[in-house]
Amino acid sequence: MRAVRDRLRLVYGVPVAGPHGQPIAELILTVLSQSTSDRNRDVAYLGLRERLGDWEAVRDAPVEAIEAAIRPGGISQIKSARIKAILGAIAAGGELDLAWLVQRSVPEAQRYLTSLPGVGRKTAACVLLFAFGMRDVPVDTHVSRVGARLGLLPSGAPFEALHDTMLAITPRGQELEFHLNLLRHGRRTCYARRPNCGGCALQRMCPSAFRV
Ligand code: SF4
Repeated sequence: MRAVRDRLRLVYGVPVAGPHGQPIAELILTVLSQSTSDRNRDVAYLGLRERLGDWEAVRDAPVEAIEAAIRPGGISQIKSARIKAILGAIAAGGELDLAWLVQRSVPEAQRYLTSLPGVGRKTAACVLLFAFGMRDVPVDTHVSRVGARLGLLPSGAPFEALHDTMLAITPRGQELEFHLNLLRHGRRTCYARRPNCGGCALQRMCPSAFRV
């Protein structure tokens, strides 16, 4: 992990972003990011906030209005129903607020978030890491592919197990760096089809180099 980290650092640097402290925004943004590009996700998010306002207003809006607001993000029928269900479930526990999660242990916070409708480990990890800087590492399709090719993660394991392994092997305090740099590497070099092994900074330490 240290050798991989150092190599990726040379190529992509060390991310400097700190936690933004907006867990509901992160949660909804992650729902909107499913099966679409970052650009379309952002357009959908801005549309939602500009048309409907704060999270209470989004929760109380008809699902059709949410769907219309997020349409540029794709599969808006599914995402709108999920957003409404998630906001309703959070509010059912009292206030429409998740700031209290930062005072809980990581397993407790993960358990709560994954109990929300349609929320899995990756979405929970995004909320905990990006909003609060808590110790969790989102494993998406890029991170799992690059990690498996490098021999860091088991190939074909369920996402739940991949998250546990990723967390176990990530040095404390480097959760954001590993997530973002493996993600960048997956997008820019270690493509799903035809990875650019010839131009890869990890080539000499990668058991999959030129074998994919
Ligand atoms: S050597 Fe090839 S398979 Fe290994 S990480 Fe680099 S691009 Fe991916």
